[in-house]
Amino acid sequence: MEIMADDHDTRDSLRPLVFRLHENVPAIVREVLLDRGWSEFDKKHQDDTDWNLYWRNSPFHITDHHSIKPWQRLNHYPEAVRVTRKDYLARHLKRMKGAYGSALYEFSPVAFIMPNDYVKFIAEYSKERQTAGRRPSYWICKPVDLSRGRGILIFQDIKDLVYDCTVIVQKYISNPLLISGYKLDLRLYVCVTSFCPLTIYTYEEGLVRFATEKFDLGSLDNVYAHLTNTSINKYGASYTKYKEGIGRGCKWTFSKFRSYLRIFGVDDMVLWQKINNIVILTLLAVIPLPVASNCFELFGFDILIDDKFKPWLLEVNYNPALCLDCSIDDAVKRKLLHDIVELLNYKQIDAFRQNQVAGIKAGRGRVPWSTAGESATKETPGLRACQKVAKCTAASSAQPALQAARGSILKVVTLTKKTVRAHPRKTLTSQLRERMNVPKIPSQAKAEAKNKQPPGAGHSPPKSAQFSPWLPTPDFCNKLPTRPYFLSDKDQRPIPRVGDFVLIFPFNEAALQASRDGTDIKSIIKEINKLVKKQLPLKQQKTKKRVGCLTSV
Ligand code: ADP
Repeated sequence: MEIMADDHDTRDSLRPLVFRLHENVPAIVREVLLDRGWSEFDKKHQDDTDWNLYWRNSPFHITDHHSIKPWQRLNHYPEAVRVTRKDYLARHLKRMKGAYGSALYEFSPVAFIMPNDYVKFIAEYSKERQTAGRRPSYWICKPVDLSRGRGILIFQDIKDLVYDCTVIVQKYISNPLLISGYKLDLRLYVCVTSFCPLTIYTYEEGLVRFATEKFDLGSLDNVYAHLTNTSINKYGASYTKYKEGIGRGCKWTFSKFRSYLRIFGVDDMVLWQKINNIVILTLLAVIPLPVASNCFELFGFDILIDDKFKPWLLEVNYNPALCLDCSIDDAVKRKLLHDIVELLNYKQIDAFRQNQVAGIKAGRGRVPWSTAGESATKETPGLRACQKVAKCTAASSAQPALQAARGSILKVVTLTKKTVRAHPRKTLTSQLRERMNVPKIPSQAKAEAKNKQPPGAGHSPPKSAQFSPWLPTPDFCNKLPTRPYFLSDKDQRPIPRVGDFVLIFPFNEAALQASRDGTDIKSIIKEINKLVKKQLPLKQQKTKKRVGCLTSV
């Protein structure tokens, strides 16, 4: 339910959720939000806090994070760039390799940051050359803060290495999985709804991106054969041509790729598990990030699969491309954005924002805000609200008034429900959410409103306000400007699945415990090691036929 009815005065007027976009945000973000019945923030006529989602392509100022309100979400986490800048990522992964063993962290190709690591690179390069019988490696040189394939160079002989900015020189995976001779990689969407406690979702649908000319180690400077970026391949001569086994363009969906693998006897579930492990291990490498709430990060993980079905992490993208180059983009990215909004777990009350709370509570004194059955008051800054929540097991004087407000909102929403189609379509996701976050039925809400007692009347807090073992500890909550929004109302656990987003961390009770109130990386790694041992090595899979040799489906 995303268009909310105004409560107090004009019962039949609608109150939509409000989005705010910074410049250059892809058009599809606006389209999806409008499609869902949201309205766009109007700086001239609306208050600075009168929005629910602020989306921008660059990081927010730290003051934006500090002043976040319970009904608001930001689309970036502070310092997420630690994982998305190629040199930072290489450094973090190297450190993790040293600390937890290369067996677990050998999913990223060996990398050197230039010019700092020049001597180390020369040592490695020379060692390889001097090893008799060993074919010299190929290397790929990438500017650390560029994207879309810009400035990339592939070489075998060091005399071809040139750079004029900070670059990483990474081992080139020279045996990629090929379909009909074409190289491919996967663009995997990952949404982190919190770094503390770590909460990670991967998107089951995604994009397979093909190079548009056949892979050939004899022509290292042919970008259309070696790079899978759409931004490059859409300008290639073969882009619009029909390519045997691939089709036109340069993209497949994950669904099509999975079906393709299954036809040839490859267990895509094992591959998927391995990729999920890569995502978790990568994000663990950049922890701790500053504590922040009500923000999320959509990452684009680029995963290359080699001809032994081993997945490799190439890089992690900040602001993964949301432009629409083809119908496959449209289908995948539109649904992705709808699912992101679902994942943000907005509640009916969020549509009222700050100014409207005053209206709802007219004559009732302070009305606390809530996104999960407890939280801030109108005048209470976010941090104080958290402290209040931390104490709410002892006494929750705020609860009766909250329930009264909630009850009246529910009542109005119910009244208007018959005439208003709040959402253009009832997605699987929204049905799922409805099941998981079943709102109180109006009669229940009415009864609660009737029974409301004056503050401090010995009213015991409702179950949802009590700490379950899944809730972050009070200590942790005290650090947050507002409460985490990603917990389900039903059992206060991270929601396991929202649309095509699947919760991959925490993956069990032990991992959850180890990520509460600070992250115990050692314990989490121990759990991942257990998990990895249980997973069947891809090598052992009996494939009917080697996919790399196939020419058509
Ligand atoms: P950018 O940020 O410029 O897109 P990437 O690291 O994603 O940089 O590299 C661009 C493309 O180059 C990838 O999509 C992939 O096709 C290819 N590529 C990058 N690194 C490697 C590697 N180590 N081995 C093989 N191919 C690679």
